[in-house]
Amino acid sequence: MQQKLSNDFLIQCAHEFGTPLYVYHAERIKGQYERLQKAFHECDARFFYACKALTNINILRYIKNIGCDVDCSSINEVLLALKAGFVSENILYTSSNIAFEEIETAAELRVNINIDSLSNLRKFGKKFGSTYPVSVRLRPNIMAGGNLKISTGHKNSKFGIPLEQIEEITAIVRETGVWIRGLHIHSGSDIKDVDVFLKGVQVLFDISAHFSQLEFLDLGGGFKVAYKPGDEETDIELLGKKVTEAVASFEKQTKRKWKLWFEPGKFLVSEAGYFITQVNVIKETPAIVFAGVNTGLNHLIRPMFYGSYHTIENISNPVAPAKKYTVVGNICETDTFATDRELNEIRENDYLLFLNAGAYCFEMASNYNSRYKPAEVLVKNDKAHLIRKRDVLEDLLKNQVEVL
Ligand SMILES: *Cc1c(COP(=O)(O)O)cnc(C)c1O
Repeated sequence: MQQKLSNDFLIQCAHEFGTPLYVYHAERIKGQYERLQKAFHECDARFFYACKALTNINILRYIKNIGCDVDCSSINEVLLALKAGFVSENILYTSSNIAFEEIETAAELRVNINIDSLSNLRKFGKKFGSTYPVSVRLRPNIMAGGNLKISTGHKNSKFGIPLEQIEEITAIVRETGVWIRGLHIHSGSDIKDVDVFLKGVQVLFDISAHFSQLEFLDLGGGFKVAYKPGDEETDIELLGKKVTEAVASFEKQTKRKWKLWFEPGKFLVSEAGYFITQVNVIKETPAIVFAGVNTGLNHLIRPMFYGSYHTIENISNPVAPAKKYTVVGNICETDTFATDRELNEIRENDYLLFLNAGAYCFEMASNYNSRYKPAEVLVKNDKAHLIRKRDVLEDLLKNQVEVL
């Protein structure tokens, strides 16, 4: 297991590149990938990094170089993956409610395509018949994940084709000859419970008999990571063991081999990321002591968007006695990062470090309040490389057309 980057190193990065700053630790990503490979080494398993978690081109290249494949959520992510050097057969495009034209583009690019509606599947079948293999995203009607906002497989979710409509899928296969090579589910994010994944595998096993040309079953991503000391992550080693057992007995039953695909996002990059902020203002009010940092929900929206917890550490005053703070941002909007959090005494200009800042953090950043997006740094072999410059004023004006 890779260790956390040291406070001294992170403070050096802050001095060199300024704050707020995202820092990613390459070897930590590799460590997570190796855990997955090891846990599933007895299966014929393939991992596609769900790159919507973090798409900096250097991260994509690094992921490719360690041998991991990539899962994309938009055609632009597909184009970025190609630019990063992935070959098309190692790219998976899992769409959700996209225009059929984008699926046609993906087919021209020869990437793996995962279709999530009857409507697009029918169009695809009509156009391509049996000439281009696809997989189908199913909605397993399983409630899974950390909370409703990040749960995608339940019975009111927009994602995937509901299991009840399996007959409609097989009708499309009969009518158009569409070649269904894989079945896919992705039930949500932050799924801790191994049994939820096993339930998902079982769902896929049960319906696989409806399709005669299947090669793989895709279980999606959603593995949970630990957000604070003592927090539980998905027991990936146990999951590997249980899934391997389930697949082995299914292989015996069906007298054939099965390939398994996975799409980990958060699991690969969450813990590899750090967000370094600096304290602008300490505001002592009768009820609460606020620590106001030089960033906000424009740079890290997860706490306000879906109540995510990020561990925060005062890395410039790490042994001072702890006090309670509410850590807030500098945006004209309520942007609370942490409420009544015990932190080592905070002084103005201290560096507050946010952990688990690799997945869905920079990626969801915006220029709200006309603030600059932060810089990003990749640490590889103990060396810090700037991989995205901080915005400057021209970036805010870049696509604006001045007509007045
Ligand atoms: C977002 C997403 C993932 C990754 O989810 P994590 O919780 O980051 O592992 C996997 N598959 C699909 C289709 C996704 O949309």
